[in-house]
Amino acid sequence: MDYVSTRGSAPALDFEGATLAGLAADGGLYVPREWPTFRLDEIVAMRRLPYPELAARVMQSFVGDCLTPQRLRELCEQAYARFAHVAVTPLTQLDERNWLLELFHGPTLAFKDVALQLLGLLFEEFLSRRDERLTIVGATSGDTGSAAIDAVAGRERIDIFMLHPKGRVSDVQRRQMTTVKAPNVYNIAIDGSFDDAQAMVKRMFGDANMTGRFRISAVNSINWARLMAQVVYYFAAALQLGGPERKVAFSVPTGNFGDVFAGHVAARMGLPIQRLIVATNVNDILHRALSAGDYSAGEVTPTAAPSMDIQVSSNFERLLFDVGGRDGAALAEQMRGFETTKAMRLTNAQREGAAALFASARGDAGQMSQAMRWAWEHCDGEVIDPHTAIGLHAAREADLPADVPIVTLATAHPAKFRDAVERATGVRPALPPRVGDLFERDERYVELPGDYAAIAAYVAEHATPSR
Ligand SMILES: *Cc1c(COP(=O)(O)O)cnc(C)c1O
Repeated sequence: MDYVSTRGSAPALDFEGATLAGLAADGGLYVPREWPTFRLDEIVAMRRLPYPELAARVMQSFVGDCLTPQRLRELCEQAYARFAHVAVTPLTQLDERNWLLELFHGPTLAFKDVALQLLGLLFEEFLSRRDERLTIVGATSGDTGSAAIDAVAGRERIDIFMLHPKGRVSDVQRRQMTTVKAPNVYNIAIDGSFDDAQAMVKRMFGDANMTGRFRISAVNSINWARLMAQVVYYFAAALQLGGPERKVAFSVPTGNFGDVFAGHVAARMGLPIQRLIVATNVNDILHRALSAGDYSAGEVTPTAAPSMDIQVSSNFERLLFDVGGRDGAALAEQMRGFETTKAMRLTNAQREGAAALFASARGDAGQMSQAMRWAWEHCDGEVIDPHTAIGLHAAREADLPADVPIVTLATAHPAKFRDAVERATGVRPALPPRVGDLFERDERYVELPGDYAAIAAYVAEHATPSR
């Protein structure tokens, strides 16, 4: 299997190359050259497989010759052994038609663990084969940082530098990053916003001074391997609810469009999906794009669901490429226009292609609290987090045939956002035992000004060169 860039001019890479590269050299994102597909009887045969085995079966054709089937299975077993539930991503029933897919049983309490636990192992496997080292530089509004740090802490060939905006992540999120003691983990609190942090990371990827000495890579969802690992739970959920014979719909709390794009991939692979509902909060660029063709970025409004407080959704480019005729040159031009004006119109082909599978909905603060209260009052005391609540709101508003089950992706554990949950429901969710003495441990991080030169100097001083 080889991977091509959505902007058409970067060299094609195999799975190993695409995993280590992150962003393509032409500024695009890597996607498989074609979608591998399963016949219905092959999907039926996946029913009741343990999660790691299902994962290996769904992912094998994306990995191609880069890992043997046996090695891929071993890595999946190792990655998912750290989850606190045997089913890895269990389903919970809310009412006659609504279900929650609980994606928060990993070490850092958000769905990012499902992909990052595997990605950490893939990095290590490929780096030791090449006898190389990797410098991961990332910006986080909370969940990606903690999941990535947990996944690579203590790994010999990797250094990780994680920037977070000082004072703007929750106390649980910050402590999950800053109490990790491994010597290869560097936390940096910057004076500035998440967007400032993100801009400095992007600048480092283009800084020849840095890229000449270090192999710098990304752990956000521009990395294809993350999306690939997320395809698996769409299969797992649909198979439990009567698929592939019965179609299932999914409602997905969306920010960077990675999680819901994985649903699109599952559908392309042959899994019957009735509808993918893109649920946004008031930062609704994706809802406007999918409902009216208007992809234009405004200012970010901070909400109680910070991982969805995004104006530019990187992975949307992958969908535009796939449903718009896979024309890299045309998309490169469209994206260049967007980068200059912060606005673009979807083409008719893109709009019609997306409408075949996607719907969208927007939830404001009141609707989010209402969904949290509804789950608490009508579903046997079910406590959900603010991101999941936006998804559940969209699911309950969806206009779908009555016999279609709707699965809302529960993307974070409610204890990760205790204050917001308490405000809406009056209940303060307890931290699960697996996070242990998080509030007793010492924190370790540096504070730096929101200034590129200072960040680059810090990374250069502490990172180990690539060979
Ligand atoms: C990252 C995140 C999201 C958004 O996922 P995308 O793949 O960026 O669309 C939603 N909810 C939570 C809790 C997250 O951490």
